[in-house]
Order: sequence, then structure tokens, then C-alpha cells
Amino acid sequence: MVRPEGVSVSGADPQNRVSRRLLLGVGGVLLLGGCADRSKSAVGTGGATGGPTGAGPTLPQPRGGAPFPGGDPADTSTAPGDSHTNDSPPPDNTPPPGATGVDPAPPPGKPQFYIHEGDKAIALTIDDGPSGKYTPQVLALLAQYKIPATFCMIGSNAAKHASLVAEVTAAGHQIANHTFTHPNLAKLDAGAIRSEIERTTDALTKAGAKPPTFFRAPGGAWSPAVFDVCGQLALRPLDWSVDPRDWSRPGTDHIVTTVMGHTHTGSIILEHDGGGDRSQTVAALQKFLPQLLAAGYHFVQP
Ligand SMILES: [Zn+2]
Repeated sequence: MVRPEGVSVSGADPQNRVSRRLLLGVGGVLLLGGCADRSKSAVGTGGATGGPTGAGPTLPQPRGGAPFPGGDPADTSTAPGDSHTNDSPPPDNTPPPGATGVDPAPPPGKPQFYIHEGDKAIALTIDDGPSGKYTPQVLALLAQYKIPATFCMIGSNAAKHASLVAEVTAAGHQIANHTFTHPNLAKLDAGAIRSEIERTTDALTKAGAKPPTFFRAPGGAWSPAVFDVCGQLALRPLDWSVDPRDWSRPGTDHIVTTVMGHTHTGSIILEHDGGGDRSQTVAALQKFLPQLLAAGYHFVQP
């Protein structure tokens, strides 16, 4: 069942993908296509209301397929981005619609999939940069619409583009730690995980960013060791709940449609400004950011 990341399912439309994900989660069963089910509870809703306890997402399995992208040397890679690697079931820390109150820490051993900042509050996360080509374009759009975002930066890219780290910080955006080389952390021991994270925090702070308070695992590949190290370093594990797989360049309209179709109060939207050609992402942001604002959403940082 291991499907190399970056290989899209032939003919799968977003709903199919969502259905696949849901069915896999529910049954833990291999999904053999044709499951055009119907679930409306998809990527953005978290599915179960109230959230079952102890039935959270399974941890990603080691994959034998495509490697995780490493850095963004020339913005030309076609490496996959951060979609979940295991078609994990909907996360269980779903906020009820319109939930208000403080943003609670996720339960031990789980990342945060949602924010809890009140009705129509959502978060935008931008991963795998900074990129000399795309980060400035994303920054310009965020400034145009006065939207605060969270950039999950790769340390090696931050070291190469220190001025962009400073620019993102100066614009008021949050920066999260996204490892130094973007490896599959599920395959690394605690020492290697810690090194990836510490080197990144070092690169970010040297470039003028505040020490991050959030950490995002590449590909959502969480493991007990990752959670342990996050705890030791006082980093909060941050996942996402709306994933249009923009890194796979599915078409601007597909990205827009997926985001608009799956975003709800509390959603954390995943996009990418690094790791390859992100022109579709930029074009999609230009379309869906004003649409989300027009739909009454407002953006907050986790
Ligand atoms: Zn990533």
C-alpha cells in the first residue's frame, strides 16, 4: 500500500483522494479505487465530531518510494512536498464549529491539526522555503490581503536566503522549524532528529528570526521520537488539515477548488513556496485568499 509520494493516483479527483484517505483511516484497509464515496467529512472537517479519543492518526510508515525533498537548491526540483504519507485518517483534535477559547496544546503524542481561535478563524502555512523566487511573491500577496501566515522553513534554505528570513519576520509572519534537510524523520533516531531541528533553529535565529515555537515534520512523518525531541526543545508539533497537494502541481484551479471546498473554521491550510516550481501555488493563492476573506474567514497564526 505504500505509494511513493509524488505519484498521483491515476484519475483521482480530489474527492476520490479524500475518500481514499477516509476509507483507509476508517478501515485500515487497502483501498482499491472506485471508492467514490461521498464523504463530506474530508480533509478540512476532521470528520468525527467531538473526536474519538485514542483513535488518532496512525504514524506514517516508512516508505520505499520517492525521497523526501531536500532543500531547494535552485527551485527546480520536482520533489514532493508535505502531504501526509499514509493517507492517515482525519485527525481527532477537531474544533467544533465556531469554537472559541484558547488554543489548547494537542494531546501528548499528537500534532496540532487545527486552530481553536473562534468562528471563521483559519491559518495559512507555507512550507519548504524560503525560496528566492517564490517567497517574495507569496509575501507580496500576503501583504496585499493583510494576511498573517506561518512559514515552515527548511534550515538549509534559511541559511542560503537569510535576508528572506528577515523579510518574512519583519512582515509579521510566524516562522516554524521544518528541519534542516527535510528528511523522513520516521527513519531517524532521536539524536539525528534533534540535530535537524537544532541546526534549523540556529539558522533561523542567525538570520534574525525569533526562536520558533512550532515544529512541522516533513510529510507529516511523526514518530514517538519526534514528539520526544519536540518536548525536550519546547516545540509544539504542528500538522495541517487542508492539503490541496499543491506541490504536485495539480493545476491552479484544482488547488483553489480543494482549498475552498475543504476549509472550515479551525482549518490549517498547507501550501508550499519551496521545493520546486510553485507558480501554481502562487496563482492559486492569488485566487483563494480573497475568496476566503469574502467568505468571512480571517487568518490567525497558531
Ligand atoms: Zn516540507
